Amino acid sequence: MVECELCKLMKEDTRVLYRDEITTVMIPKEVSALGELIVLPNNHEILFENLPDETASHMAIIANKASMAQVAALGCAGTNLLIQSGEQAGQKHSHTFIRIIPRFEKDNINLEWQPQKLSEEDMSTIEIKLREACQKIFFKQKEKGPEEFKSAGEEKPGEKDQDKYKHMLEHLKRMP
Ligand SMILES: [Zn+2]
Repeated sequence: MVECELCKLMKEDTRVLYRDEITTVMIPKEVSALGELIVLPNNHEILFENLPDETASHMAIIANKASMAQVAALGCAGTNLLIQSGEQAGQKHSHTFIRIIPRFEKDNINLEWQPQKLSEEDMSTIEIKLREACQKIFFKQKEKGPEEFKSAGEEKPGEKDQDKYKHMLEHLKRMP
């Protein structure tokens, strides 16, 4: 099997700025801006959604510190933390990471978009779907959910729902 490009790159110490037992911070090969950093899980994983909770939360802490290092070193006016999960979201590598982009005035990086005008009907339909999915997913991860979930009188998701969610992630796994 061909080794993942980012797993290989992580072993090249020249690009690595920090490493602990869970994550690695390094300067990527292709950058959107001078001074960009990426935070990767040491264990190969395609999708951010599939990371264990401990890894995902640790990556957020490390990404925040990497962002502080950029401000200190570059004097940038701000930073963007970006996760591209799935091909449609711009993911180009088969190894998930958080991209930390230092931002400067008039730097020609465009991460802004026009708010979409949606109908009340569309909004309420999607809200119902999201509420349902959130209940299933949060219940799956925690035996005791927040108060609003408990009072909703929903049952804990059965095996079937969990399988469905797993299937969704399997589907996402096929890309890129
Ligand atoms: Zn990898």
